[in-house]
Amino acid sequence: MPKEFPIDGSRDALWMATAVSAPDTVSLSHELSRDVVIIGGGLTGLNAALHLARNGTSVAVLEAATLGFGASGRSGGQVNLGLNLGPAALIEKFGKATGERLIDLIISTPDQVFSWIAENQLRCDPVQNGWVQGAADKHQLKAQQAMSAEYRAHGCELTLLDADAISERTGAYGFTGGLYCASAGSLHPLSYTRELARAALTRGAEIYTNSKVSGLEQSASQQWRVYTGKGSISCRHVLVCTNGYTDSLVSGLKQKLVPVRSVLAATEPLSDTLRQQVLPKQVTFVDKRRLILYFRYDRDGRLCVGDHGPMRDHFRADDFNAVKKRAVAVFPQLENVKWDYHWGGRVAMTKDTLPFLYQIAPGLTAGMGYNGRGVGMGTMMGKALAQTVIDPEKCDFPQSKPNRFLMHKFHSAGVSMTVKWLALRDHLDSL
Ligand SMILES: Cc1cc2nc3c(=O)[nH]c(=O)nc-3n(C[C@H](O)[C@H](O)[C@H](O)COP(=O)(O)OP(=O)(O)OC[C@H]3O[C@@H](n4cnc5c(N)ncnc54)[C@H](O)[C@@H]3O)c2cc1C
Repeated sequence: MPKEFPIDGSRDALWMATAVSAPDTVSLSHELSRDVVIIGGGLTGLNAALHLARNGTSVAVLEAATLGFGASGRSGGQVNLGLNLGPAALIEKFGKATGERLIDLIISTPDQVFSWIAENQLRCDPVQNGWVQGAADKHQLKAQQAMSAEYRAHGCELTLLDADAISERTGAYGFTGGLYCASAGSLHPLSYTRELARAALTRGAEIYTNSKVSGLEQSASQQWRVYTGKGSISCRHVLVCTNGYTDSLVSGLKQKLVPVRSVLAATEPLSDTLRQQVLPKQVTFVDKRRLILYFRYDRDGRLCVGDHGPMRDHFRADDFNAVKKRAVAVFPQLENVKWDYHWGGRVAMTKDTLPFLYQIAPGLTAGMGYNGRGVGMGTMMGKALAQTVIDPEKCDFPQSKPNRFLMHKFHSAGVSMTVKWLALRDHLDSL
């Protein structure tokens, strides 16, 4: 294995090797005028583009690198209930009416994602076999019991499993119990992203890659001009969809997010015997410790395992050895399997662990901050961002002003220390 991995993961990412091909795109090299410009060609931006194009709105996407270069082409591809927080916390934050609307959105997220894929005929290996979250101890189980009760009171089938049921669904032993959500599943994240782009292009959207936005300017007439190195677009609305790859383009936005890293490794296609022992029901699986470990199969029977990563974008062999070691601790049967692919990327965390739909200025709106749940939630946010343009009254997602992280420039050191502390607590709990 090479010592370092390129930031775009193109050499070693499973998804790069197995995705549908990307649609042809060029970089922006002229001046245009459109209704909407979207900054960021990940699944949030491309979902917004597809909704807008289907509505007949003229829209152009500007992506600094290639489609899916960010988290959208690197993720674990798990499609989960939209948020990490429970209904009570959401109602407390947003009030009863808005909170309940948001809860409905969260509960419907997986079904909405899978029907959107079917409706637009997106070739991205969707699988809706359910999601299991295993509790490592009685404290976690207690938290899961409360979460299950709250969601069930809102009509969501988030079922509690006992230790035997966890083993039966996952093949893993040693969990005290856990949660099961039947509507969740997985997809091929890079294919999903590229297919969204293809569908948006077919509907009339324009997409420019290798077109990093270098400047934004608002004119007196409520128009924006968005500049890249070689061209510019004037528009009424700018949607910022840069998530964990947010730079200093929009003043103060970067400070609302902390980009932590997550790394994944994928095995060779496992034998039938191993597949009957490891996730025999083909569910997606999360080992709910303080530092979570997440599992799924791809369409060829490779097991993909994700873990927390280091606070840098260039990954090393050691980072991936740690993932494999933790995976083997959960499934000892993996001891001798070959690991073929390794990659990672940035997960955008927010202060209150919630994503935000944030109107920065009239005509300038950001949607991001999914805290590791962006495959589902980014899909919903893309729709909500499009709604802010088409019909703000119908917008599914509440607008909010996110808090900034204090001492943001020291976030790398802060996250590294926190990860060590959480790892120690997980270790102590396991004794
Ligand atoms: C390793 C990993 C595993 C994950 N696993 C899961 C999972 O299993 N399930 C789940 O729900 N979520 C998961 N996530 C999170 C999920 O992938 C993201 O939340 C989601 O993909 C975010 O999509 P996005 O389009 O908002 O952002 P991104 O996909 O990050 O796209 C942002 C884009 O903006 C572009 N950009 C930045 N600045 C500029 C600029 N100035 N001009 C033009 N373009 C710019 C970037 O190049 C990038 O392509 C994971 C994330 C990672 C990194």
